[in-house]
Amino acid sequence: MAERAAETIRPRRGGVFEYAPAPESRSIVDIKSSYGLFIAGEFVESIDGRPFKTISPATEEVLAEVTEAGPQDVDRAISSARAAYTAYWAPMRPADRSKYLFRIARIIQERSRELAVLESLDNGKPIRESRDVDIPLVAAHFFYYAGWADKLPYAGFGPNPRPLGVAGQVIPWNFPLLMLAWKIAPALACGNTVVLKPAETTPLTALTFAEICQQADLPPGVVNIVTGAGDTGRALVEHQDVDKVAFTGSTEVGRLIARSVAGSGKKVTLELGGKAANIIFDDAAIDQAVEGVVNGIFFNQGHVCCAGSRLLVQESVYDEVLTSLKRRLATLRVGDPLDKNTDIGAINSAEQLDRIRKLSEIGEEEGAERWSPPCELPDRGFWFAPTIFTGVSQAHRIAREEIFGPVLSVLSFRTPDEAVEKANNTPYGLSAGVWTEKGSRILSIAQRLRAGVVWANTFNKFDPSSPFGGYKESGYGREGGRHGLEAYLDV
Ligand code: NAD
Ligand code: MN
Repeated sequence: MAERAAETIRPRRGGVFEYAPAPESRSIVDIKSSYGLFIAGEFVESIDGRPFKTISPATEEVLAEVTEAGPQDVDRAISSARAAYTAYWAPMRPADRSKYLFRIARIIQERSRELAVLESLDNGKPIRESRDVDIPLVAAHFFYYAGWADKLPYAGFGPNPRPLGVAGQVIPWNFPLLMLAWKIAPALACGNTVVLKPAETTPLTALTFAEICQQADLPPGVVNIVTGAGDTGRALVEHQDVDKVAFTGSTEVGRLIARSVAGSGKKVTLELGGKAANIIFDDAAIDQAVEGVVNGIFFNQGHVCCAGSRLLVQESVYDEVLTSLKRRLATLRVGDPLDKNTDIGAINSAEQLDRIRKLSEIGEEEGAERWSPPCELPDRGFWFAPTIFTGVSQAHRIAREEIFGPVLSVLSFRTPDEAVEKANNTPYGLSAGVWTEKGSRILSIAQRLRAGVVWANTFNKFDPSSPFGGYKESGYGREGGRHGLEAYLDV
């Protein structure tokens, strides 16, 4: 016993004790060897698609074979959504729609452990995040919009707001089930039916959500899930019988979609990239601010569109902030996503790892100084150590482009005006953070920042009642809250 303890509790760098491994069991998930498409309430074989594999980015192990839906499959899913819209979902008493959404929310809570493990396996994110952030927020979204379903006449869009029809929804891989919830919950609450395409690297929780729809006895066709990559997404958003397109992903694809639906009469919302500034003033509580910076850029491996990827520090506290930040980074644990002690999991795909590596190399070539704490990375899978760049100028690509990984670019400023000017000097405008003890400064800075969400003395806080969305190249439309209903109503 004593020997075992000595082996598992090893002293670590700097005399801190090492944690014993605490992996979450994967026996709670039952992954099938292959999945069809979820159309009209059932899992069906593809007509014109082909199989592809989804892997665990932490081990490169194949988790399951899924289906890349072809245009005929997409067409079939849209017909099923149309039929369900006309026959049951739009005419249904709103209070009954609400009951279905409450039921789905409760099943998500009941199956939350299973969903968290599955999300961490397919995506690579730490179980602590999927368990404590993603899945609780997914359930909260369904509860929140379930409450709106029978109160739409009081939402501020007139006495009898009507649904739009069939929504075609395409989502990314960084928050697979949460993005599904952001899309499906308000759509259904407003009386629309949906065809949703999850990202090609993270289809498994969406397919489990399809099972949850069956379990909730949701009428067939109200929710359809078609898996696949860009071609499937394009077939979906370009289909002429889709009334509403909702997309979250890269600005590049968002631009293509905006072009392809222009003039079609379809309603569109786009949630795209970001390059948020996290601003620390010299009167801020430095330890708290450092925690906020770490949460802002290293949460979910930095695969967050609203990540605080540009740190702006007031010159007078620059050295102090950098010293604390580096000390804190040295304590972050990178590794097995299913280990409850892990802070930073795997990068979602080989392609994304490649992008992060390339932009980081460009940062070095441009003359910024690169730093990472000593950190052992697993041999298999896709990994990137938490990284800070200092000596970054506003013209550097690492200060302008979204890296979408655990990489922070640090800049400094002297005056509040300079902070605002630098923060707004970006083609994006999704979010920002302000750290100061002065309430009046929070208000005046927040008013001048061109960002959809501004966090004060916190970062990456989400709530279903709070709208989210961007300015400029970060997209248009709002998701969440009462505002999020507008995107799914004919107003
Ligand atoms: P992406 O835009 O290529 O993919 C997002 C989704 O769109 C996926 O489901 C994909 O299959 C689908 N898609 C791709 N091409 C399409 C098309 N022509 N028509 C319709 N759907 C299409 O994003 P990605 O490759 O996953 O990541 C690339 C970059 O996007 C990242 O580096 C990051 O900058 C950004 N990103 C942003 C967010 C966000 O939440 N805003 C999320 C993921 C990625
Ligand atoms: Mn995967």
